[in-house]
Amino acid sequence: MKIRLCPKCKKPTLRNATNVSGWLAPSMYECSDNECGYVGYINIEVDPEDFKLDEEDKSNKEAKE
Ligand SMILES: [Zn+2]
Repeated sequence: MKIRLCPKCKKPTLRNATNVSGWLAPSMYECSDNECGYVGYINIEVDPEDFKLDEEDKSNKEAKE
């Protein structure tokens, strides 16, 4: 199973968007991050392992600097 990342904020906060009448729009996503608010058709799929590696890389860099 893959993780969907928001293309704008790169967080795993995407969920399927619903339109105003409440119908599910399966090909559209919205970001549940309040500061981002992305809605659109683009999502970035990554393997959970890759996502963990990214997080580790970031924290390693921060620790060095
Ligand atoms: Zn976002």
